[in-house]
Amino acid sequence: MSLTNILNLAPKKDEIWTPATVHLVDKICPKCALGRMTATGRGMQPAPNVPPVFEHKCDKCLHKEAYGKQYPRAEFTKIEEKGVEETQ
Ligand SMILES: [Zn+2]
Repeated sequence: MSLTNILNLAPKKDEIWTPATVHLVDKICPKCALGRMTATGRGMQPAPNVPPVFEHKCDKCLHKEAYGKQYPRAEFTKIEEKGVEETQ
């Protein structure tokens, strides 16, 4: 029995559900190389018509830096199921 059955979850007619694994991604501090960079919740617009960046702070040395992606974050990797043909 799959987890979706146990939880009584099912895709709706207009949804496609794909099994995936999740990896939590941490950014190592570029200054001390010991701490992890964590988003402070502050976003900044470096210039007009440029994507926003997010302020991060090291949890060890308190170094601050801004990135286009927020850390920590989750990355999903599709699981290839054996014996199941992909249908579109
Ligand atoms: Zn640091």
